[in-house]
Amino acid sequence: MERSYDVVIVGGGVMGCSVAYWLAANPDFTGRIAIIERDPTYATATTALSVGSIRQQFSTPENVQMSLFGAEFLAGVGERLAVDGDRPSVSLVSGGYLFLATEAGRAVLEANHRIQRPLGAENVLLSAAELAERFPWLNTEGLAMGSLGLRHEGWLDPYGLLHAFRRKAMSLGAAYLKDRVVAMRREGGRIAAVTLAEGGEIACGMVIDAAGPQAGAVAALAGIELPVRPRKRFVFVVDCRTPIACNQLVIDPSGVYFRPEGRNYLCGLSPPEDQDPDCEDFTIDYSWFDDEVWPVLAHRVPAFAELKMLRAWAGLYEYNTFDQNAILGPHPEVANFHFINGFSGHGVQQSPAAGRAVSELVIYGGFRTLDLGRFSFARIAANAPIRELNVV
Ligand SMILES: Cc1cc2nc3c(=O)[nH]c(=O)nc-3n(C[C@H](O)[C@H](O)[C@H](O)COP(=O)(O)OP(=O)(O)OC[C@H]3O[C@@H](n4cnc5c(N)ncnc54)[C@H](O)[C@@H]3O)c2cc1C
Repeated sequence: MERSYDVVIVGGGVMGCSVAYWLAANPDFTGRIAIIERDPTYATATTALSVGSIRQQFSTPENVQMSLFGAEFLAGVGERLAVDGDRPSVSLVSGGYLFLATEAGRAVLEANHRIQRPLGAENVLLSAAELAERFPWLNTEGLAMGSLGLRHEGWLDPYGLLHAFRRKAMSLGAAYLKDRVVAMRREGGRIAAVTLAEGGEIACGMVIDAAGPQAGAVAALAGIELPVRPRKRFVFVVDCRTPIACNQLVIDPSGVYFRPEGRNYLCGLSPPEDQDPDCEDFTIDYSWFDDEVWPVLAHRVPAFAELKMLRAWAGLYEYNTFDQNAILGPHPEVANFHFINGFSGHGVQQSPAAGRAVSELVIYGGFRTLDLGRFSFARIAANAPIRELNVV
C-alpha cells in the first residue's frame, strides 16, 4: 500500500523537528506530517555536536530578530514543549557574548551595534580601558574595543532542544520514521514522492529539506543545486588550573572563541576559506589547537598559558558557501520543495524562528510573524548575497 503524507521532512535534527512542531501545533494545519531520519542516535548530526550558544550580535537584521525570538522561546520552552505535564529542560545558561576588536575592526563593531540596538538587542560597546576594568583576566593589548551582550545571550543543551521539539511534535501526531531518503520522484514542477533506502516510496504534498550538512546532497536528489556543504569544525574542551571569573563567550579579533562549560572551557576557531574543504569525516587535528588556538588564548588570557587539554570533538557546519546565511522556503520552480538550510554555525539558536517561518510558508503561503523573505532561495539565482559579518 502506498504511504502518503502531506509534509515529508527529510532530516530529524533540530530544524526538522522544529518545523514538525510548528506545523503540528498550529490548528490551521490538519495535514499528516512525517519526519524521516536516517540515524535516530544522532551520532554525527550537527545539532548533537554543536556548541549551542545564542547571541543577538549579528550584522544581518533578520538574524538579530530570529535570535531574539529564539531567546524568548527558550525562556518558555518548558511550558511550550511540555508533554503530559512533563516539562523539558534545555539547561539554558545566561552569559553574554563579548566580541573583541582591534582598531581595524572598530567600524564593523560600531556598525553592528547600530543595527542591533534598535531591534531590541541589549549590548554595550566598551573601550579598551573599560574592558580592562570589567574583565581583569583579559589582556587588552592591541584591543580598541569590545561589544558585550547584556541580556538574551548564553548557551543551552542543543540535543535537549532537539528532543523536546521531537517529543512534542510526535505527541501532536507527527510520524517519525527511521530511514534514509535516497531518491525523489519529480513530476514536472513538483516532487511527487521520496524513495527510502529500506524500500518503497512515500507520496508527499510537500518536501522539506532539513538534512543539515547533507542538505546539498538531498536537494540534488530533486535535481536542485543548493550551495550548502559539510565543513568540519573542532571543539576543544580544556581545563584551566587558575579559574577565571568569566561568564562570557569571548571572540578574539583572530576568530578564536572560548566560553565556560561547567568547570572547564570550550574553545575553537574556524579555518580560513581556502583551508576549509568540504568534509564528511570527523577526525580531529590536535595540531589545530596547538598551533592556532592555544597561542591566541594564552596571549589574550594569561591564565590560559597553563591550559590542559581534556578532550575534543569534530562536527560539521551546514555551511552556506554563497553567503553564510539561512536559506528558507520554497524553490522558485519546484514549488513543493522547501529549504531550511545553510545556517553556517548559528542554527540551534535560530531553530525556533526558522521552524516557525517555514511552517507559515507551508500553511499560509506567506510569513505571518517575522518577514524572512530576504532569506529565500531567489537571492541565489539573482546572485544577491546577504553577507553575515559575524560568523564565528
Ligand atoms: C562545532 C559546532 C558548533 C556550533 N555552535 C553553534 C552555536 O554555538 N550556536 C548555534 O546556534 N549553532 C551552532 N552550530 C550550528 C548548529 O548546530 C546547526 O546550525 C544546527 O544544529 C543544524 O541543525 P539541522 O537540523 O539543520 O542539522 P542536523 O542536526 O545535522 O540534522 C540533520 C539530520 O538530517 C539527517 N539526514 C541527512 N541526510 C538524510 C537523508 N538522506 N535521509 C534522512 N535523514 C537524513 C541526519 O542524520 C541529521 O540527523 C554549531 C555547529 C557545529 C558543528
